[in-house]
Amino acid sequence: MPLSPCILSVDELHNLSPPERDTMRPVAERYPFRAPAPYLSRIDWQDPGDPLRRIVVPHPDELAPWGRADPSDEAAYTRAPGLQHKYPSTALLLVTDNCAGYCRHCFRKRLFGEGRDEVARDPRPALEYIREHREITNVLLTGGDPLTLPTRRLAAIVEQVAQIPHVRAVRIGSKVPAYDPGRILRDPGLRDLVRATVRPDLRFFLMTQFNHPRELSREALAAVHGLLAAGMTACNQTPLLRGVNDDPAVLARLFRSLTFAGISPYYVFVCRPTMGNLHLSVPVEECLAVFSTAQSRVSGLAKRARLVMSHATGKVEVVGVCRDKVVMRYHRAADPRMSGELLMLPRNPAARWLDDYLPAGEFFDDDPSCGFGCGSAA
Ligand code: SF4
Repeated sequence: MPLSPCILSVDELHNLSPPERDTMRPVAERYPFRAPAPYLSRIDWQDPGDPLRRIVVPHPDELAPWGRADPSDEAAYTRAPGLQHKYPSTALLLVTDNCAGYCRHCFRKRLFGEGRDEVARDPRPALEYIREHREITNVLLTGGDPLTLPTRRLAAIVEQVAQIPHVRAVRIGSKVPAYDPGRILRDPGLRDLVRATVRPDLRFFLMTQFNHPRELSREALAAVHGLLAAGMTACNQTPLLRGVNDDPAVLARLFRSLTFAGISPYYVFVCRPTMGNLHLSVPVEECLAVFSTAQSRVSGLAKRARLVMSHATGKVEVVGVCRDKVVMRYHRAADPRMSGELLMLPRNPAARWLDDYLPAGEFFDDDPSCGFGCGSAA
């Protein structure tokens, strides 16, 4: 089922003045622009700080030098074309490098440049790897956005993954419910796929990416509801983004709206140090303050998210602060010896990433202890 029409050139953003478009052109030449027309129609163009605009429209600040192409070292965990295996139970399968819109904060924007081919064009080697690794119980289909694939192609991949006996959860990571919910509403084949996949011993998860409560439009709610009614389970992941959801009132509203839509708030990510993302990133301790305040304003059901950094060494939860220390914990670790490890690090209000708390190279010696840990909590 086709996606809605999309805009691929800043020259087509007729709501902006010619000088504004001029400032965006070099940005879009560096980091491509793509946005679904229905999503653009929901932007308040009178407000330069409109959160939906910040999510999808190029900004001159993207040219500030910062960050890396692969901030979580995904290349180091790639075991077959398009297949990443970092934590024992979970495999990531990059099934496409297409998206309904290109998020300006994307940590995989390297995929959209020329000369990169990191996706599983032929998924057979990746599927063979999953079959051979019985410890893999979860497979996340990602990319790019799997819901941009024709449903028949997506179904072929999902069916093969679901047939692997040790796989008990198939996940689809997607921003289509926010960007282009019409693609889901128009396609009964997607709901058929859900009904055909879910079994008593196999769950099918929709990992949405709603960044701001305004993205939960009436169409988005209907699209998610249809997939939930067919048997999916939904969780939301969002980075904490400057000017989008860095206000505790907005983040609390997002948590509440998600929960009432049947979507569990799952992860809130500290924005990865990715090229082009500096203006959207928020320092770690400020993220914690915003996140904690937002959580204090919502019910237990809406409080299920964790604040994490997807660091090259593992998923590091930002737990709290005391007078002069920030406390973190390895929620998941690439090196199992670090799983559950607590980190007590001297506070650094300017730090935007775990590495900013540590001496250069600290993570890459042979000793799994970072030197600041206070012992395993696992
Ligand atoms: S939908 Fe996901 S993969 Fe696509 S641009 Fe946005 S964050 Fe990146």
